[in-house]
Amino acid sequence: MAEPGSIKSRIAALNIEQVHVPAPNSRPAYTYDQATSAKKKPPPPPPPPGQRPPIPPRVQTVNNPPILTNAPTSTRHLGNQPAPVKPETPNRTPTLPPRPPPRSNSKPPSLPPRTPSCPSDRGLTKKASMESISTVSSGISTLSLGSAMTGRSNGTSNGGQRYEIRAPAYDPTKLPPLPTKKVLEDSKQNKQNNSILRAMRSTSNVATTSRAPPPQLPSRPALPARPESKTVEPEPPRRALPPPPSAFTFALNKSTETPPPIPATRPSPTSATEAGAPPPIPLASRPKLDAIMASKPKPGAQGCCLVCRDFSAPDGHAAQFPRTSLPSSDVGWLATQLTAPFPSATDKARAIFVWLHHNVDYDVHSFFNGTVSGTTPERTITSGLAVCEGYAGLFAALALKAGLECVVVSGHGKGFGHNALKPGDPLPPFKCGHAWNAVRIDNGEWKLCDPCWGAGNVSGKNYNRKFKPSEFTKSNDDFGYKHFPSDKAYFFRSDGRPLTWEEYMMDDMGERVMAYGTASDEGIRVRSIQPPMKHIKVRDPQEPVVRFQFSAVCQHWDNERHGAGKPYLLTLSVGGQNGRDSHHIPFNTDGKVWWLDVNRFELGAPGQKINVCAVTKFDGRDGRGLTLDQWKAKQGRVGQSWSYFCMWELV
Ligand SMILES: [Zn+2]
Repeated sequence: MAEPGSIKSRIAALNIEQVHVPAPNSRPAYTYDQATSAKKKPPPPPPPPGQRPPIPPRVQTVNNPPILTNAPTSTRHLGNQPAPVKPETPNRTPTLPPRPPPRSNSKPPSLPPRTPSCPSDRGLTKKASMESISTVSSGISTLSLGSAMTGRSNGTSNGGQRYEIRAPAYDPTKLPPLPTKKVLEDSKQNKQNNSILRAMRSTSNVATTSRAPPPQLPSRPALPARPESKTVEPEPPRRALPPPPSAFTFALNKSTETPPPIPATRPSPTSATEAGAPPPIPLASRPKLDAIMASKPKPGAQGCCLVCRDFSAPDGHAAQFPRTSLPSSDVGWLATQLTAPFPSATDKARAIFVWLHHNVDYDVHSFFNGTVSGTTPERTITSGLAVCEGYAGLFAALALKAGLECVVVSGHGKGFGHNALKPGDPLPPFKCGHAWNAVRIDNGEWKLCDPCWGAGNVSGKNYNRKFKPSEFTKSNDDFGYKHFPSDKAYFFRSDGRPLTWEEYMMDDMGERVMAYGTASDEGIRVRSIQPPMKHIKVRDPQEPVVRFQFSAVCQHWDNERHGAGKPYLLTLSVGGQNGRDSHHIPFNTDGKVWWLDVNRFELGAPGQKINVCAVTKFDGRDGRGLTLDQWKAKQGRVGQSWSYFCMWELV
């Protein structure tokens, strides 16, 4: 079977196109002018921090088609696909309740006709079960418990002999007394009341952050340090806006974890141009002033924290420009439309990121048939199809046209097809197969984001459009454990230190704990989960107690305000002694950190799995807001359902 072109000719083609793939040994800077004129020298990239080690030799250029050989299936995929959908949580009897129907309005636009070039099987086979991913991507699998499980969960409410809850309880009575309030003089009362009200408005965002620090056992290793947020800086002055159109409204206060709004209509590509007239320009090209003003940190959020920031304005705005109703494929026009209403660089970048989710689908056809070729931002707008390089190229082109600083970064990504090293495996050579972006957002901060993984994921050989906001909001430090840039200047870590290839590859050696989408949907920072690795020994005389612990995605996280609703009660499902007494142990929490100490022998038998579970239904009611006392009072006697956050395997 012939490859679609030699590597050399493809590199040459890419160089002619000047599309986002930096030539070997060059800086991966991208300018829009490169794509259009292909003549100018790229501008100097941002200054690298300190001395840069030599770039490791590149083995493969971005988006080479997969090399189809008789090699094992695990080697046939490039790492440049969207992140895989987590396998569904394992099912258990009794039967699952019916799943909610899939999103009804997410029908993708009809694709341009394809030439039936590769009708036959080209030798690519689907990978085994790990890659056969369900299209239900939430990862939620609620279990209807029935008698089998509830009947066995006695002894968990007060089984102190078999597990220990060691962390000290939070005791509000031990806090120092509050200072007494000043009594205001009557004459100044009104004036001061006004100023107090004003002050409350601007400072209320710290009111909930002064909780007691999470209890921590002194003998335990501390959690990895969270990247420090920068100090809050004043917002740039708002630009005066023309009166907003009344044609649409925004869904305010939408969670950043929910998908951005879907464009109401996705006309077919041909319908608008059939009559020879230009397609209609979207009526609503500017959001309401309210919506723009709402695009500020939510109450309780810090100014520069992306995780709990309210992005409903740029998210809603980006949904107003369906690709198929654009007047042309002009990058500058689109960039202006998407970003002009927002003075904040962060909001501009977010609007572009979200637009790509709505309008560009991963080109699974080209990818799996090995026919990926170079592209331009205009062609990506026209086709609505791209692989990682096309996403990153169009993101950069739009950002640059919008006046942002932005580069395409190429390197290795732990995406679809990535297999964690096993202990003892040799370190593989660096391999470049993915592309993403660094964009300069508010306060001059360089932020890494992956518009390709943020737009959706690959399921089997199909593309599943699913917004993943964490690919925009997660810290550069977390980002760098799944994206290794060819040029280490583009790590942009908080400590300024680039990872080594070995550190990066060893990070998930032996496999990290299996975390499902539910965990991040409910505001849990996956990298904080302890123990971090998938396998837990049931016997270890050195450490007879295992601490389970994890924390919220950011310090200011309030699941009710920033997330999907009141938090669920979380439990650890264990197998019990010798694996014959499966039951649930509730986590302790202060709302920001969850922790639990369990005797190792109580975890279960080797081969069994233990899970962090959210009690999603209890006694016939929704489980949100269920308290520990309520759970203890009835559990074992009423039905309950769970969804899994993460899973470990006992060895
Ligand atoms: Zn936050």
